[in-house]
Amino acid sequence: MRIDILTLFPEMCERVLDESMIGRARKSGIIEVNCHNIRDYTDDKHRHVDDMPYGGGQGMLMKPEPIAACFDAVARQCVSRPLLIYLSPKGRVFHQSIARELLAYDNICLLCGHYEGIDQRIIDSMVDMQISVGDYVLTGGELPALIVTDAVCRMVPGVLAENVCFEEESHYDGLLEHPQYTRPPEWNGMRVPEALLSGHHANIQKWKRRMALEQTAKYRPDLLSEAELTEEEKRHLKNLLEP
Ligand code: SAM
Repeated sequence: MRIDILTLFPEMCERVLDESMIGRARKSGIIEVNCHNIRDYTDDKHRHVDDMPYGGGQGMLMKPEPIAACFDAVARQCVSRPLLIYLSPKGRVFHQSIARELLAYDNICLLCGHYEGIDQRIIDSMVDMQISVGDYVLTGGELPALIVTDAVCRMVPGVLAENVCFEEESHYDGLLEHPQYTRPPEWNGMRVPEALLSGHHANIQKWKRRMALEQTAKYRPDLLSEAELTEEEKRHLKNLLEP
């Protein structure tokens, strides 16, 4: 998988992408993540990337020409045209299901806006999808682009030790993850649940699934209507929610 981030702050992205598992996966070549400075695609002496919005209003807007030139340069390096995603508070709110959807693409370009955002004509003529990281406004699209990159890349085979690492996690199958414990078996008078100490694989799996249901019912009951549940699990939930 190849991800290209189009930004005015490539160093900011590089610093994060160089670290931890994503950094290691980049170094080993399992994933390719490149950061491109949109300013490198300006053609005026002062390398302007922004201008005043027509009709007035606060702040500056990113000009269309450098963005288009930057994307075209990246697209020329790819076998097929990359999916161009603009990080925007107006986009689809990011979710694990979108991360899984993006995993199907070989090339993704993440366009980070700054200032008041970007010229609408880029969105109308070039952008394939807009993604928001939530109903709030950030200074720029860099943090959202890093969130999307991380969420997608960690599902690329080989980035984590095993696929089960993310398949058992919150949101993958619509539920939150079961609670987790490590050594010691007893800490501050609190004991690790006996099922986890039993060494009985089937019972441990059963416990994990039941606790995932209970955690979801407790913290995010709104997720339950979409989750795939057995009849027994539905009964268990009913008892849980209507004692
Ligand atoms: N004027 C824009 C509006 O009201 O919709 C907000 C611009 S914001 C200050 C600057 C940039 O940050 C945006 O172009 C976008 O790339 C990014 N951004 C801000 N909030 C975001 C969010 N919730 N999700 C994704 N990107 C966001």
